[in-house]
Formats: sequence, C-alpha cells, structure tokens
Amino acid sequence: MNLKHAPFFIFLFFTVEVFGQQRIEKEGTNWFLYGLYAVILIWFIIYIRKASKNQAKNGINLKTVYCPNCNEKQPFIRLPKNISQALYGGTTCPKCGTELDKYGNII
Ligand SMILES: [Zn+2]
Repeated sequence: MNLKHAPFFIFLFFTVEVFGQQRIEKEGTNWFLYGLYAVILIWFIIYIRKASKNQAKNGINLKTVYCPNCNEKQPFIRLPKNISQALYGGTTCPKCGTELDKYGNII
C-alpha cells in the first residue's frame, strides 16, 4: 500500500464506523455497514489485482522469479537486504548479486 493513500483509508474507515454506529442505534440490523465493508473489500481486491497486472509496487506476485542475468531460481521466502525490499518485495540474486523487483525485473 502506498503511503500517500493512508489518510484516505483512515478517513474512509472512520466514516464507515460513524455511519455504522448511527444505523445500529436507529434500526438494529446493520446491513448498511456490512454492505460498505463488502464494497471496500471488493474495491481493494480489484486495486491489488490491477497493480499486480501493471507490475506496480503495490501488486502481488506469487509466481517463482528467475534471475534474468544467470537464470537462477530465486527463493520464495527471502530475507530483505534493504528497506525497499522489506516494504515492496524483491530480492538480490544469491548467485550473481543482481537486484530484482518482485516480478523479476532488474532494478
Ligand atoms: Zn543472478
């Protein structure tokens, strides 16, 4: 998740909570809150899928990555060597030392 989106998500979460609480006091059944959570969840899944397709930093790649330099299979569970790798994924090739992102492109 990109850090610049964080205030938006916090705002959204509080809005949902406040509206949800008001609805509980009025009606009892809280379908409005469930509906909003469902919409946010679906939107979030679409966002991640889109990012993965575009090979963006917020995406997820579960496929095995091979080093484009020496064709070495990269380990699935890796130890991050810097902050960028810890936050966004990626690996340093254990054989030739090339820095790769999580999709297997040379940085
Ligand atoms: Zn390599």
